[in-house]
Amino acid sequence: MGKIGKRFQGKVAIVTASTQGIGFGIAERLGLEGASVVISSRKQINVDEAVEKLKAKGIEVYGLVFHVSNPQQRKNLIEKTIQKYGKIDVVVSNAAANPSVDSILETKESVLDKLWEINVKSSILVLQEAAPYLKKGSSVILISSIAGYQPESSMAMYGVTKTALLGLTKALAAEMAPNTRVNCVAPGFVPTHFAAFITTSADVRKAIEDKTLLNRLGTTEDMAAATAFLASDDASYITGETLVVAGGIPSRL
Ligand code: NAP
Repeated sequence: MGKIGKRFQGKVAIVTASTQGIGFGIAERLGLEGASVVISSRKQINVDEAVEKLKAKGIEVYGLVFHVSNPQQRKNLIEKTIQKYGKIDVVVSNAAANPSVDSILETKESVLDKLWEINVKSSILVLQEAAPYLKKGSSVILISSIAGYQPESSMAMYGVTKTALLGLTKALAAEMAPNTRVNCVAPGFVPTHFAAFITTSADVRKAIEDKTLLNRLGTTEDMAAATAFLASDDASYITGETLVVAGGIPSRL
């Protein structure tokens, strides 16, 4: 990790799906830079553990159970954040599901619905809930994927939902301007629980590393650094953009 500044002193950041992996890394980074962070995920035990880990690093943190497709918990997340900290400066929408490796034409309707619901609709709904509190200088980050540019066959429909987030970023950037900037991070391959396939086989891992120009997998810290940049005032003239953080895996011109 490079030198950590204090760009989020006095700010309040909500990071969804943040008790492990990339979301946790983002919460940690924003917290180390001075933000009060609100973390959440489906399981209370994961929330409690993550809160303890962040507190141990001196981070001001508040943890809640929030399954991104639960309307009551969604309302509760925003209400409790406002009760505790009085405002919201940053929202990072990070939740995703990838329940099947079927081809698109073989994907069951219920799975198509779930992919849309978790990967796209939940981001919209949480922002609808947060929007009244997002004031001048606030910032939203959506977490897409390199698969949004190149949907590989094993994760094709997941990739398509991540492509939708690229469009959502542009549309919301226009809708929420000029007070709120909306940007997106498209991670490459980061060995997390979600992407355990990367490291279960040495061959798969090598094939992915070989696709990168930088000859390595991504880390949660890499994704957190990019997210923190876009969320910070260092990016105050950037909105509607997607930053690909994938070690040089081809994405777009
Ligand atoms: P991860 O390590 O498995 O972490 C997922 C986190 O989300 C956990 O804290 C989990 O906690 C929570 N969660 C899962 N489903 C949820 C739901 N429905 N509602 C609320 N919380 C939920 O995953 P990750 O790899 O960091 O992935 C994070 C994001 O990065 C996703 O949007 C993914 O598409 C994107 N991404 C990842 C990679 C990669 O290579 N890892 C690449 C590109 C993009 P609970 O189990 O307690 O809910």
